[in-house]
Amino acid sequence: MPDVLIQNARILEDGRLVPAEILIEDGKIKGIAKEFRVSAYDEKIDADNMVVIPAGIDGHVHFRDPGLTYKEDWYTGSCSAAAGGIVTVLEHPNTIPPVVDKVGFSLKLKHAKKKSVVDYGINGGVTDNIDKLKELWRLGISVFGEIFMAESTGALNISKETLGAALSQIGQMDAPACIHAEDEAIRLENEQLLKNDTGIDIHSRVRPNESEEKAVADCLEINKSAAFPARLHFCHTSTPEAVRLITQAQKDSSPLNNAGKVTCEVVPHHLFLSTKDYGKLGTLGKMNPPLRSPADAAYMIQALNSGLINAVASDHAPHMRYEKDAPMLSAPSGVPGVETLMPLVLAGVRKNLFTLERVIQVTSRNPAYIFGLDRLGKGSMAEGHDADLLLFDPKNIVPIKAKNLHTQCDWTPYEGMDGLFPGMTLSRGDVVWDGAQVIAKKGRGQFLPGAGLKTDEDGKIILDDNEDDE
Ligand SMILES: [Zn+2]
Repeated sequence: MPDVLIQNARILEDGRLVPAEILIEDGKIKGIAKEFRVSAYDEKIDADNMVVIPAGIDGHVHFRDPGLTYKEDWYTGSCSAAAGGIVTVLEHPNTIPPVVDKVGFSLKLKHAKKKSVVDYGINGGVTDNIDKLKELWRLGISVFGEIFMAESTGALNISKETLGAALSQIGQMDAPACIHAEDEAIRLENEQLLKNDTGIDIHSRVRPNESEEKAVADCLEINKSAAFPARLHFCHTSTPEAVRLITQAQKDSSPLNNAGKVTCEVVPHHLFLSTKDYGKLGTLGKMNPPLRSPADAAYMIQALNSGLINAVASDHAPHMRYEKDAPMLSAPSGVPGVETLMPLVLAGVRKNLFTLERVIQVTSRNPAYIFGLDRLGKGSMAEGHDADLLLFDPKNIVPIKAKNLHTQCDWTPYEGMDGLFPGMTLSRGDVVWDGAQVIAKKGRGQFLPGAGLKTDEDGKIILDDNEDDE
């Protein structure tokens, strides 16, 4: 017997919204049709003419747990995701301790298992732990990175020599690597040159466009000359210069294998905010890479829509308001965003910035493929896939207000901007957000192991090859 029947819904079909019903069994989509003639099911959901799309996959969140749980933890972060229509997240390694070995990985997995209401993957960090990368991959991390090429929160940045060695190892394992591309030398030089500058946009000038451009160029070059080039995914790409380099690299890479394959993502603050918002935001607009010019933001919207940028992620990086209440140069970098990602891009559809079809590609289908989550049933609203769904009423655009959000962080850089919030979110067939509150049980989220997870017949993880021979 099916568990759930969703009636009176609309779905996107060949560019048009058409009436549909959705049947869900064992947390998976059993079928989508104009009308089902089933009489027995556990639960009926009246979608009240709402549009149903795949729920979002956010490939870039920092939930600060373990170690910095006064900023966020797996429960508040995942509730914020669910209320924003996102039920799959990849959490990045710069927590305390960082996920750079088995101890760090196991501790984070324990916290997530206990608290997360949405499904999650855990990323593995790359520092001077080259000898631990294989172990991390075998433990089931999703992706390596973000690999910091310049200083940022958590100070995990590495030298170019280490980057080359790491990428070669990662390539050999056929794992994806996420890159935070900013050039450390340019940052240090500008920090010195501009140390007495009190301009409000100083952070953007310390880390200018050419800083990202140089780092992307260097990383592509280093990867190309590695013995085993890795699959590269550039996080939070923020400049036309970087997008052009990545587009060229995509053209150059072989479509026949993964080695050297290149993708990139953009974050909402590089689409919907710009340097002209510093006056209003002050340090609340400080993040890495920094806000760019209005012209750059307009380019990024266009590049996302035309297919040059492959995915959207939030880079949800909460800090408390009192921490942000500091001079621009010393305030921490990062903004919350997991709950506002889908509302901002869906409101963008209403404003004809994007098509709904494109939004579906960049928030679910593409991230699922890039991060290897498609093999676990994620990223597609089709039979046999997880029933991870976002339902929304296209007319329901409201101003974004921090007080309505579920993150522990009590502010948002998007205060007052238009958001189209989900009326309901389902994760594997369970309603986790009903439009008014998160109704998911703490710890219901499932771990999504990466493709490198290797276990024996008893389910015991095999960490090194010597054990295989025994
Ligand atoms: Zn980053």
